[in-house]
Amino acid sequence: MDLIKVNGIVVKSSDYKDNDRLVTLVTFELGRITCLARGVKKPKAKLKYAQEVFNFGEFMLAKKHDSYTLTDCVQTDSFGPITKDIEMYYCGCMMMDILSRISSLESQKGMLAQTIRMLSKLCYDEEAPQRVTTEFLKECLRQNGYDIDYNHCSICGTELTDNAYFLDSAGLICPSCANKSRDIPVNINILKYLQKGEGSEEIAKVSNAYLAYFLEELVGIKANPMYFGNITYGE
Ligand SMILES: [Zn+2]
Repeated sequence: MDLIKVNGIVVKSSDYKDNDRLVTLVTFELGRITCLARGVKKPKAKLKYAQEVFNFGEFMLAKKHDSYTLTDCVQTDSFGPITKDIEMYYCGCMMMDILSRISSLESQKGMLAQTIRMLSKLCYDEEAPQRVTTEFLKECLRQNGYDIDYNHCSICGTELTDNAYFLDSAGLICPSCANKSRDIPVNINILKYLQKGEGSEEIAKVSNAYLAYFLEELVGIKANPMYFGNITYGE
C-alpha cells in the first residue's frame, strides 16, 4: 500500500454502504479519480467535510492496486458562500459536472485551475452566475482546442456584424459563407453578447445554451440540460 498526496477538488460524492461515500476528485496530479471515504456519514466523522462537493485542497490517499482510500485532507477552500444563492449554486454544480466529464478525456490541469479561479469569482467577487457560466464554457472550448473567433467569419475572415451561423467544422461564419439549410443560425443579439458581453440576463442565458451546444458538438461533452434549458436552436 502506498500513501500519496494530490491537490484537487471534489466534483461528486455518493453514498456507498452504510457509512461510506464514494468521492470523485479532479486533481492536478492524476486527473479524475474516485476514492473511498470510510465512515464519513457517521455524525462525528473527522473527514465529513472532506467528501463534500466543492471541497478544494490537499488529499492524502492510500493506494492499493487501482483503488484509493481517503486518509486525510487539508482544506484550502470550501467555497461556502455558494450555497447561499440558488443561481450561484446551480452554476457551481454545472461547472463541477462539466469539469468531471471533461477530465475523463485527458489531463485538464489548465481547466482545473481556471475552474477554481471562476468559483472564487462566483463566491467572493459576486460576479453574476450567467457571466461566470459564459467564461467557463468559453474556457472549456479554448482549453480543448476550440479557440472560437466570435468576431470574424472563420471561412472568409469578414467581420461578423449581423446574424451569423455556426458550422461544427469551422466555427462562426458569415451569412455569405453559410449554407442556410444546414448551419445553425446565431442571431445578432447572441453574437453581441458573445463578442462583448453586452445584453440582458435573458440574452446571456440563451447565449450560454448556444455555448453549451458548441461544447457538445465540438468536444463531445453534453452539459446538463436542466441548467441550460431546452433551447430550439435557430428560431
Ligand atoms: Zn464568410
